[in-house]
Amino acid sequence: MGEVPERTAEALGGRGAEPSSGASPRRAVVIGGSMAGLLAARVLADHYARVTVVERDRLPESADPRPGVPQSRHTHVLVTGGQQALESLLPGLVGELREAGAPWVGVPRDLVQWQAGAWYRRTPATAHLLTGSRPLTEWLIRRRVLADPRVETAQGTEVVGLEGDAARVGGVVVRERGSGASQGLRSLIADLVVDASGRSSKAPGWLAAIGAEPPREETLDTGLAYASCVYRAEADDSTDSLGYYIVPNPGQVHGAVVLPVEDGRTLVTLSGLRGGEPPTDHDGFTDFARRLPDPLVHRWLVKAEPVSAVHGFRNTANIRRRYDRSGPEGFLATGDALCAFNPVYGQGMAVAALNAVALREALGSRRTPGTRHVQRAVFRSSQQAWDISAGSDKTMPGATGNAAASRAVDRPVNWYLARVQRRAAADPLVGAAFRSALSLASPLTSLFAPRIARAVRSEGRPAPHPTRRGGGRPRAARLRREQHGPVNQFTGPRSGT
Ligand SMILES: Cc1cc2nc3c(=O)[nH]c(=O)nc-3n(C[C@H](O)[C@H](O)[C@H](O)COP(=O)(O)OP(=O)(O)OC[C@H]3O[C@@H](n4cnc5c(N)ncnc54)[C@H](O)[C@@H]3O)c2cc1C
Repeated sequence: MGEVPERTAEALGGRGAEPSSGASPRRAVVIGGSMAGLLAARVLADHYARVTVVERDRLPESADPRPGVPQSRHTHVLVTGGQQALESLLPGLVGELREAGAPWVGVPRDLVQWQAGAWYRRTPATAHLLTGSRPLTEWLIRRRVLADPRVETAQGTEVVGLEGDAARVGGVVVRERGSGASQGLRSLIADLVVDASGRSSKAPGWLAAIGAEPPREETLDTGLAYASCVYRAEADDSTDSLGYYIVPNPGQVHGAVVLPVEDGRTLVTLSGLRGGEPPTDHDGFTDFARRLPDPLVHRWLVKAEPVSAVHGFRNTANIRRRYDRSGPEGFLATGDALCAFNPVYGQGMAVAALNAVALREALGSRRTPGTRHVQRAVFRSSQQAWDISAGSDKTMPGATGNAAASRAVDRPVNWYLARVQRRAAADPLVGAAFRSALSLASPLTSLFAPRIARAVRSEGRPAPHPTRRGGGRPRAARLRREQHGPVNQFTGPRSGT
């Protein structure tokens, strides 16, 4: 496995040095070189003379998993709102992903989907998911961002603290990964520090250590656990769909996603709640699929050939850190370090991109915007995903955390949204609006438009079992066509999907 050539960050100063000021070139340091860190670096490069991404891993020069992103072995769909945001940050990226083999799955047409206790009618697609593997998506973004000579990396380097005081952060304290606890500590001085170190960020503790106020944390944990395994694309012609998507709900807590990834493989993720986690051996994994509300995924697994180990993942709580309310100047958080979601809703990568778009707009909106102004804008761009994820998770059995309680004022809205979900399965109009909001391409308020409200009031007939749409080509033939078909269906921001 090759590694990304490093334009190494030199000028690792002595402890306690001052931030650059006056005529000296301004520098931003980004903690973490994954999705959110890379996209923030892309934006900061237009505003700072130097942008240094500090990453504890050595970054592979290929689409391979790496230790710092353990979730990369699990299903990672890129929803419409994320495709649009990425395309505006890195024009042409969606086409590059498709050319590299990331499948383009039309919803609801191409999916056998079970949600809110109902099958979805497989009407023509009103949204598309990009279902390439997470290592592929991250690699293509990394290649583009690190090609910019204004962005440098310090790889194999871990941030262990901050420089500064209660009023202002002035840099980070780093050490080479693998060196002893207090050996070889260096300071990297910066005008702006952006925390993009993911959901397990240690920044609240680092802030407290320099006397600054750590953020209040909101948490909501359903105890959801994932297990995933890669299969050789099967020659199963029993369906003309491209995948299966079984979404858990309070009455049926098991989930499944069966989706094509690049290179003719299929990634299968199964999920269950605390105490009912999917096993990580092949037989147990297959057997677990019997718990789903329909035998189709189990039947698929029995016939399919696994080509990887089964990997588990348990750290899936919704966590939101309220940096928008308090914090020193010179410090921002983005991506999962700011707001991490239950992955079952497939939003985190999209929000990392939306955060970067918000950062770009906030930095461009004033001559020298204050850190809090910028942080509030970035925070707002996570709000819709939080409302969807936390709103749904509050209804799951056994949800814990200080954000788990339902408020009385939310009940009428929740009642209405539950009806929207039920109608979305069979009514194409409601379905299209629901998908668009869920994929962060339109605001949740669009679900309250009069024509949607009218449709939601009627009961309608449930959709039939959708294994076959009728008249469609078998799955294997459709996959070949989708993967090698034209890539110009995405025509730019806010269109095409
Ligand atoms: C099981 C699972 C499935 C998911 N599925 C989807 C999906 O279908 N669609 C979707 O959009 N999102 C999905 N997500 C969410 C997605 O993975 C995250 O939202 C996304 O990776 C956030 O990117 P990030 O850069 O903020 O954090 P991360 O990707 O977690 O990256 C953090 C980076 O910081 C580095 N780092 C950490 N600490 C330090 C330190 N002290 N010093 C230096 N570097 C450090 C790490 O090595 C890593 O590179 C899923 C998440 C999980 C857990």
